[in-house]
Amino acid sequence: MILKDLGEFNLINRLSKRVRLSAGVVKGIGDDAAVLRYKRDRHLLLTTDMLIEGRHFLRSSGGYLIGKKAMSVNVSDIAAMGGRPLAAVISLGAPPSLGVGFIDALYKGIREVAEKFKIDLVGGDTVRSEKIIINVALTGEVKKGNLVLRNGASPGDVIFVTGSIGGSLSGRHLSFTPRVKEALFLAENYRVHSMIDVSDGLIADLGHILRDSRVGGVIYERAIPLSRHAKDFNSAVMDGEDFELVFTVPGRDADKLLKAWPFKTRLSRIGEICPCPRRLYLVAKNKEIQKIKPKGYAHF
Ligand code: ADP
Ligand code: MG
Repeated sequence: MILKDLGEFNLINRLSKRVRLSAGVVKGIGDDAAVLRYKRDRHLLLTTDMLIEGRHFLRSSGGYLIGKKAMSVNVSDIAAMGGRPLAAVISLGAPPSLGVGFIDALYKGIREVAEKFKIDLVGGDTVRSEKIIINVALTGEVKKGNLVLRNGASPGDVIFVTGSIGGSLSGRHLSFTPRVKEALFLAENYRVHSMIDVSDGLIADLGHILRDSRVGGVIYERAIPLSRHAKDFNSAVMDGEDFELVFTVPGRDADKLLKAWPFKTRLSRIGEICPCPRRLYLVAKNKEIQKIKPKGYAHF
């Protein structure tokens, strides 16, 4: 069998079944970041993401934006756990012909995000490669009571999304703000049952919550906040790289949260969790109910 037949998610599943974990692991493969035992009152978080030229970015976008993105995608995963970032190591693959100015700009972007979120840059690796490759690994910490996984959604929860969805590929995916302060506010003040950041697409990432929580959901087309860059509804909810937060809170807290929301970032109530395992229904604008498959971007 080849990777294309197996698919990205089956591959990760297959890998995760074959690892044995020590008692120091609170959550291994399968969430936005790994969760490790750390201090009396907090856990350590660890995540990594790799960007490859031609797949995630074009050289012509310039080092600065690419550096910002390489850091921000990792920060977004720490945020989705309810945590704050701590320290990063950065591995770089680059061809010998690459201008040093590109790397300078790349690190300017990296440093800017690091300073904004008070992340220490503490190491990395540099190798020769044909295409530019940037891998960031980032640690973070989360108060034990603030930890939010993908698997805690329960029937009666309301589904929310921050910001707006779609059109990211037209440029926004290089320059977005990871929702750290929003996630901290949520984790600190509400019973957030589940949370994920939107990298694979709203439908696919909500699908991860539904699968891991063994529940289903219903979402309303009219309630989903489309970006003005979005081409249409279908591509907006499938495309991915929005790096917004999708999360669920108990239904009785939903109005309180909407009223108390203190940020400029939009907050939208887009649906509810129901007991029907893994099923996802979309109520279209014409009130028609469609059953949808939680598919989105997969690498294979
Ligand atoms: P995200 O989009 O939030 O970064 P991914 O879809 O990349 O998450 O990964 C899903 C889960 O699978 C994560 O827990 C990640 O750590 C894990 N994972 C991805 N690739 C691998 C791999 N090659 N080996 C082990 N775990 C992996
Ligand atoms: Mg994620």
